[in-house]
Amino acid sequence: MEISKTKVKSKCDFYGCNNIAQYSFSTKGIIKRDLCFCEECLQGMYQAIGKIKTPKGMSSPFKLNKRMRKEND
Ligand SMILES: [Zn+2]
Repeated sequence: MEISKTKVKSKCDFYGCNNIAQYSFSTKGIIKRDLCFCEECLQGMYQAIGKIKTPKGMSSPFKLNKRMRKEND
């Protein structure tokens, strides 16, 4: 699955949203066609996903920064 910038201009697929889609979500046949959505809806999805799934990568850069700071002191 991948999210890419849309090549063709189409309307956002989200219900009630009339923006022009900027991104498409390709599932390679899992759903009938690519899901197209705008920047606003991408943000909304990201926030919704963030509520149930915390990105694992988030904690490591902070730890790394702390370690680097100690070394510099
Ligand atoms: Zn939208």
